[in-house]
Amino acid sequence: MSPQLPLVLKNYCAGQAACICARSNSNANRRVTVRELAHYASTTTDSRLPMNPRPPTSNSIQATPPNTGKVIPLVDYRQRRLPMAATPAPALPSQGLLDRFERPLRDLRISLTDRCNFRCTYCMPREKFGRDHAFLPPTAHLSFDEITRLARQFVALGVKKLRLTGGEPLLRKSLPQLIEQLARLRTIDGERLDIALTTNGSLLARQASDLKSAGLQRITVSLDALDEAVFARINDVGFKAAAVLRGIEAAQQVGLAPIKINMVVQRGINESQILPMAQHFRGTGMALRFIEYMDVGNNPAWRLAQVLPSSEILATLQAAYHLHPVTLQRPGETAMRWRYADGQGEIGLISSVSHAFCGDCNRARISADGQLFTCLFAHQGHDLRALLRSGCSDDLIQGSIAQLWTQRQDRYSEQRAAQATRTDPAHQRVEMHVMGG
Ligand code: SAM
Ligand code: SF4
Ligand code: SF4
Repeated sequence: MSPQLPLVLKNYCAGQAACICARSNSNANRRVTVRELAHYASTTTDSRLPMNPRPPTSNSIQATPPNTGKVIPLVDYRQRRLPMAATPAPALPSQGLLDRFERPLRDLRISLTDRCNFRCTYCMPREKFGRDHAFLPPTAHLSFDEITRLARQFVALGVKKLRLTGGEPLLRKSLPQLIEQLARLRTIDGERLDIALTTNGSLLARQASDLKSAGLQRITVSLDALDEAVFARINDVGFKAAAVLRGIEAAQQVGLAPIKINMVVQRGINESQILPMAQHFRGTGMALRFIEYMDVGNNPAWRLAQVLPSSEILATLQAAYHLHPVTLQRPGETAMRWRYADGQGEIGLISSVSHAFCGDCNRARISADGQLFTCLFAHQGHDLRALLRSGCSDDLIQGSIAQLWTQRQDRYSEQRAAQATRTDPAHQRVEMHVMGG
């Protein structure tokens, strides 16, 4: 980054594991705060800031007000489904379908259920998602045929990668049947689709073989700790890390590859597990990815202070291992990758809070009840299920998706500091377990 940048921004970059300045800037004496960065962003037209020049926003940029910790009543996203206008499909431009910031549509995440057998405190805290919570009834779910039909439209618009998620996707009955259907689809270039699945691993030991036979290629397993007490406190159902490890082993044995492991790191909760997790997965061929704790959904417990920035995670790792940055990144890749110098594999850092990556975000999401979301931090979805069930042709469904994508301007992570406080019911977000992580 150029030396003319203001000191605070230079220091911001220097504090980021992901930024090339981190290795060259000797003046990295402190990290810039979100408030400083937001102030700089609001007063500059510096095109080196991600996504500048920015479209006008009605909010003046200010730091997120302190969270009061008050329990926020749930506003049911299902009542805020936005209708989608049936529109004839456009001819696909040679550069692919691009949104307002020239980001292509490449990655579709499909949530198969809003249910989960865990109650991870950062995702589905049991005070909010207790026994009386109204999950989607089975009739609200898209059927496998509906999911496949929708996936086909997305693929025709340029999608190359499908990720099945949830909630906990392995709770969905007969899942291998859906995977078989999806595995028959081909990209616009006639290639096989890249099909992946994210799971908490609790049901993996018994399902891995069927998933692989059905055509699943690779898998991501979430595991936040090896220490049983820490893990049980996080999943809040007393599930054992050892059982997740058995699921991972089963996935390895049937040849699901590559396997990635996701660890959400929360300051004061599981940072003690960074090194044990790194040590466990080093040399196994599995990439461990450390994810910054995000303010997705409406979790009233989220605090910026609980986010352990990737720079600190990296510093912890570097104190124990020699790591080199992997410079060749694929566009749209969420993790910044680092390789162990002794050839024992690599780790990833997903820095969605400290180092937003909206600039090349190419992901769309569909909830289990058929709502389309163009950002993980959306307040409302677009009703694809209504279109499907109204007898619309494939062409019209494709056209509606294309129209929505070409109007897309989402870049929440880059605007985090400017967003209205989450205690405002009009700004209640859709939960991550609903739209699919
Ligand atoms: N149940 C599956 C699982 O846990 O892998 C799939 C759905 S889960 C919503 C997908 C991913 O989102 C998991 O890796 C989970 O750890 C991550 N996640 C959930 N809430 C998060 C948060 N507040 N910040 C960062 N990652 C989060
Ligand atoms: Fe369930 Fe995954 Fe959310 Fe944990 S992170 S509660 S496993 S959906
Ligand atoms: Fe993509 Fe929204 Fe996340 Fe930015 S905040 S990377 S636009 S999902």
